[in-house]
Amino acid sequence: MSKCVFICPIGIIASDIIDRLMACVEERCGINCEIYPPMETPRYAYDDRRFQYDSKMILKQMIKQCPPHNLGFMGVTALDLFVPILKYVYGLSQLDGRCSLISTYRLDPALYGEPPDSDLLMSRIGKTAIHELGHSFGLTHCRNPRCIMFASTKIEHTDFKQPTLCSTCLEVLKWKIKMM
Ligand SMILES: [Zn+2]
Ligand SMILES: [Zn+2]
Repeated sequence: MSKCVFICPIGIIASDIIDRLMACVEERCGINCEIYPPMETPRYAYDDRRFQYDSKMILKQMIKQCPPHNLGFMGVTALDLFVPILKYVYGLSQLDGRCSLISTYRLDPALYGEPPDSDLLMSRIGKTAIHELGHSFGLTHCRNPRCIMFASTKIEHTDFKQPTLCSTCLEVLKWKIKMM
């Protein structure tokens, strides 16, 4: 059996988002994805002063539960995530590890007062997921603002990126996967 990336829904999240995300990663990275049994809302990570969830605490839990023999273990949540030094994060990953986590919360056009747009939402989710997967495969940030591995600190950065890795990052990714 070929290795795959396990996608694990965390808390309440629409199943069509998960389905479309898996198709996107398979198509753009050539990596097989499989769905993993969902995890409950991580109440242990809730910060009642920030009304957000501590992404590092959730990632730590995922590392503990990471299934063996896989290319990656990615949590997908609709909860708003933060790390203590930042206002929010779109995602987080173990550099050169296998676990990563993304949030759809700040990718939703509705949060910015824009009309619902599921294609734009999915485009942002796909970019964010591939970015974090890239980190988990050992890729660092890219200086090319059109590359998925460019660091997004605001949504405009994410929207400016192309939906793929630049040719350099893609080569590194393929090499890293071969090494696993
Ligand atoms: Zn990054
Ligand atoms: Zn790049």
